[in-house]
Amino acid sequence: MATIAFIGLGNMGGPMARNLVKAGHTVRGFDMVAKNVEAAGALACKSAAEAVKGAEIVVTMLPAGPHVRSVYDEVLPVAAKGTLLIDCSTIDVDSARAVAKKAEGYSLDMVDAPVSGGTVGAEAATLTFMVGGSARAFERAQPVLAQMGKTIVHAGGPGNGQAAKICNNMILGISMVAVAEGFSLAEKLGLDAQKLFDISSKSSGQCWSMTTYCPVPGPVPTSPANRDYKPGFTADMMLKDLKLAVSAAQGAGQATPMGAAAQSLFALMVSSGRGGLDFSGIIKMLQGR
Ligand code: NAD
Repeated sequence: MATIAFIGLGNMGGPMARNLVKAGHTVRGFDMVAKNVEAAGALACKSAAEAVKGAEIVVTMLPAGPHVRSVYDEVLPVAAKGTLLIDCSTIDVDSARAVAKKAEGYSLDMVDAPVSGGTVGAEAATLTFMVGGSARAFERAQPVLAQMGKTIVHAGGPGNGQAAKICNNMILGISMVAVAEGFSLAEKLGLDAQKLFDISSKSSGQCWSMTTYCPVPGPVPTSPANRDYKPGFTADMMLKDLKLAVSAAQGAGQATPMGAAAQSLFALMVSSGRGGLDFSGIIKMLQGR
C-alpha cells in the first residue's frame, strides 16, 4: 500500500479519494474547503505542499488549468525523488503539456488522466481514464487508477489524455443538440417521442445521447429528462469542455463549426440561468420552454 497525496476533494475527487482509502492506502488530503477532506476520510493537511510530504503518489482533481498550474508550482519543488504525479482534472491541453514538461524538469513521472463517468462512476470506482504520458509513467499509474475506475486507456504522450477528453465531449455536446432537435421536430410533426425512439434507436441516427441519455422523458427511464433534468452532467460543465475543445481547435487550425455552434447554444443555456441543469435540458431551450 502507498502513501498518496490527494489535492482537490470536491464532487469527483472526494469519492475517488474514498476509494483509495477503502483500498488500504494512506491518503493525505488537501482542499481549499477543509470539510471536503474530512468527508473523504483522508488525513487533513494544511497545504498542498504539506500533503505531498512522504507521499509516493500525488493525485490532483481540480477545476481547471490555472488551478493545476498553481498547485504544481507548489508541489513540484517539494515532491520526493521518484514521486508519481497523476492529474485527473479536465484542463486545456496546453496546461497539461506545460506541467508535464515542468515535472520532467524535476525528473518526476507524470500522467494526465482525465475521467469520464461522472460522480456515479467516481463513487462506484467505474470511471474511464484517458491517460497521456510516457509508457513508464502509464505503467506506474495503472494500478492506482484501477482502484478508482474500470477502463484505463493509454492515449499517447503528455496531454493526449486531455485531447481525448475534449474530442469525446465535443462529440457528445454536438450529438445531444442533434438528438434534441430531432425529438423537438418530431413533436411539431405529430410524431410520438416513443415511436421516434423505437425507430431511430435501431436506425442510422442512433447514438449514446439518444439510447442512454434521451433528452425527452419516457424512452430511457434512467435519463435526466425523467427527473426534471437534475444532473448528471451539468450544462456548466459541458460549456467548459466545449470552450476547451473550440479553443484547442483554433490553436491547432482545425475547423469545428458544429463544436462552435454547440458552444454557443450551451452558452445561451448557461446565461439563461440553467447552467446547473443537466446538459440534456438544452431541449427545453430549443423548444422555447
Ligand atoms: P468540484 O468543484 O466539486 O471540486 C474541485 C475541488 O477543488 C473543490 O473542492 C475545490 O475546493 C478544490 N480546489 C480548488 N482549487 C484548489 C487548490 N488550489 N488547492 C486545493 N483544492 C482546490 O469539481 P468536480 O466536479 O469534482 O470536478 C473536478 C474536475 O473533474 C473538473 O476539472 C471537471 O471538469 C472534471 N470532471 C467532472 C465531472 C463531474 O461530473 N463532476 C465529470 C468528469 C470530469
